[in-house]
This record gives sequence, structure tokens and C-alpha cells, in this order.
Amino acid sequence: MNLKQNRIKITPLLVCACLLFTAAGAQSWQTIHNKAIVVDTHNDIISVCLQKGYSFDENLDGKTQSDLSRMKQGGLDGQVFSIFCGGEQKDPFQFANREIDTLYAWIKRNPKSMQLVTNPQQLAVAIKKHKLASMMGVEGGHMIENDLQKLDYLYGRGVRYMTLTWNNNNDWATSAEYESGHQKNNKDSVRKNGLTDFGKSVVRRMNQLGMMVDLSHVGEQTFWDAIAITDKPVLVSHSDCYALCPVYRNLKDDQIRAVGKNGGVIQLNFYPLFLDSTAEQKQHTFLQKHKAEKDSLKNSGMSNDEIESTIKTKYKQEMEDMQSPLSLLFDHIQHVIDLAGIDHVGLGGDFDGIGFTPKELTDVTKYPLITKELVSRGFSKKDIYKIMGGNFIRVFKANQKHDNQ
Ligand SMILES: [Zn+2]
Repeated sequence: MNLKQNRIKITPLLVCACLLFTAAGAQSWQTIHNKAIVVDTHNDIISVCLQKGYSFDENLDGKTQSDLSRMKQGGLDGQVFSIFCGGEQKDPFQFANREIDTLYAWIKRNPKSMQLVTNPQQLAVAIKKHKLASMMGVEGGHMIENDLQKLDYLYGRGVRYMTLTWNNNNDWATSAEYESGHQKNNKDSVRKNGLTDFGKSVVRRMNQLGMMVDLSHVGEQTFWDAIAITDKPVLVSHSDCYALCPVYRNLKDDQIRAVGKNGGVIQLNFYPLFLDSTAEQKQHTFLQKHKAEKDSLKNSGMSNDEIESTIKTKYKQEMEDMQSPLSLLFDHIQHVIDLAGIDHVGLGGDFDGIGFTPKELTDVTKYPLITKELVSRGFSKKDIYKIMGGNFIRVFKANQKHDNQ
């Protein structure tokens, strides 16, 4: 409301009312966060736990960005766990199943605080019972090993999205890294960009199954090929905006508009190198400055992990000073809203898949800060609910098989 237009006299009563309103507003972000269904669509803790021998249900504070108790603390209602396998890994389908087994084991050990969720109805039940709704998304189409039966099998085990590629190409889709010319050790130098006929049949099968087609990591041609044939809204589980941070795996403006038109959702990644166009240069300067010291630590026999930890401890303040501010995430949220609308943006933080985070968003306990900032920027409760999880749930529902509805 514009006060001038309505010529409202500011009476003492109104001043009192305003003070009350401000106080309620200041308190309400916590209530809004508690009431919102908060869902994040990308977290790599399974891979970290497998690599390092950790378990998600133990206290991993100081070791990782996520664990079960900290997710609860952050008010997360649902998490899509990434089923990840690098492009060079042998037997990727088998490896994917090992990751799924790991999540199953965590859920089995924690029946009171976790629940496997494969459809929106189960999501609602899990939330009602205050259990972490635990979903799965495969990160890289190479894990189906060119076999639609393996895709069906992964669906049967509960996987509800698949990025058509990871950074690597597979035999039927090209990645953003490849199409943009950033791929090192490129084995596909004369490869045609986009989806092959088999790739198109993968998208159609995913639509039939009710597995969301995830367009994070894919090349631009693969993106356009997939969006032309999908008959369901797409998911972009963990990517940001190219116009604000021009890295090859962020979405360009015409892609953002196309996701809006398709009815899909873009879940924003928290990685500073995808949010902040100055982050890479700051990193480079820091690394150059301490290169000699790192080299000498290496010569003394230290492992890369030990070197990293030594440098991080010694130059803590310096590292903190160069961290990207959380405010950048809101610039990306606003950019998606400006181009596609409020119904097409959400959160896919990529915790434990990212080496460092924005300054204030250090781990999964910090999701409330996002709600707090959205409130302070004047977003309505309804719009905050959409961003924090509602938009994703809409796309999840729209991808269900017809006989499930
Ligand atoms: Zn990723």
C-alpha cells in the first residue's frame, strides 16, 4: 500500500499498531520456517560417508556439512540424497546400488527419524510423523548403462530423479562440461551434441515411470532436446543462473524461461563458484599466495587432506574474509522469479558435494537463515513456502504415474 495515495494520518494508535506488527514480523520467520515444508533436492553425504567410512546418523559436526541430527536442527523436512558415481567408475550401475543400499541401511537403523519416500503421499506422512523424508536422485545417466531395464530397476528401488548426465557424457546425452568445451581428456571430440534416439527413449521412459527428468549438468543441446519431448515438468536439482555467474553448468536466461514455461522448477545450488562471479579469482589469488608453503608441506610428506586442513587452520581469517556472502543466493532467487515466476524456484544446496559454502551458510543447520532473509526481503508467507519446498512438491506430484493419483 502506498501511504501517500491513501492519505493516512499517522496517529499514535497507528504507531502502536506498527510497532506491534514489526515485533510480530521479527519473530515470525522462525514460525514460518517451522511451518514450511522445507525440502532440499541435492545432497552428496552418501558419497562422502562411503569414501570416508562415516555414517550419516553419527555426529559429523566439523567433518561434513550434513548429518541426521543437524538436518533436523536446520528444520529440513525432506532431502533428496544424490546417488552419485563418477564418470570413470567401473560398473556404475552396481555402484549406484551400493549407494542406495547405504541409504537403506541408515533408514533401517533410524526408523523413528527417517523414512524412505517415493511419492508425495509418503512425503506428507513422513512430515506428519516428524521423520526426515528421504528421497533419492541419480546423478548421471551413465549409471543405467544404456539399459532401460536398469532404469526401471532404479525406479523400483525408489529413485525419483535422474540427471541425464553428470559432468561426463554418456552414450546418449552430452554434458554441459563437454558441450561448453571445458572437458579435460576429451574422448568425444567429434561427438554430436544433445540426445540420441536412445536418449530420447530414456526421457520418455522416465516420464512413463514417474521419474523426474533432471537437467542439472546437461549441455544446452541436451537441455533443449529433453525439454522438447518431455511431457512432464522438469527438475533442475542443483544449478544457478549464468547471467549472474557465467559458469558453464549454470542456466542461461532462455533456459530459465523455458523451465518456467514447462512448469518445472530450478533448485538453486549454494556453491560460491556457481553463485559468485568473483569467487574463482579470489580462490586463485589465495592459492597463488600460499603455493610455496603448500609445496613445501607436500615435500615434507603430508597428504593433500592434511595440507588443506593445515592451510585452512593457519589462514582461517583470510579464508573467511574472501567467502562469498549469502546475499548472492537471493540475487539468483530473484533472477529466476523475474524470468520464470515465483512458482519455479527452490533449493538444491549441494551440501557435501561442495568444498566450501557461502559465509553464513556453513552447513545444513543454516536453512532457517534463508527463511529469515526471505522474510526480511518482504516475501509473503505463501511465496516463502513455495521456495522452501512447495514448488518442488508440485513438480514431484506432476511427475507421478497416473495410476498413483
Ligand atoms: Zn552435481
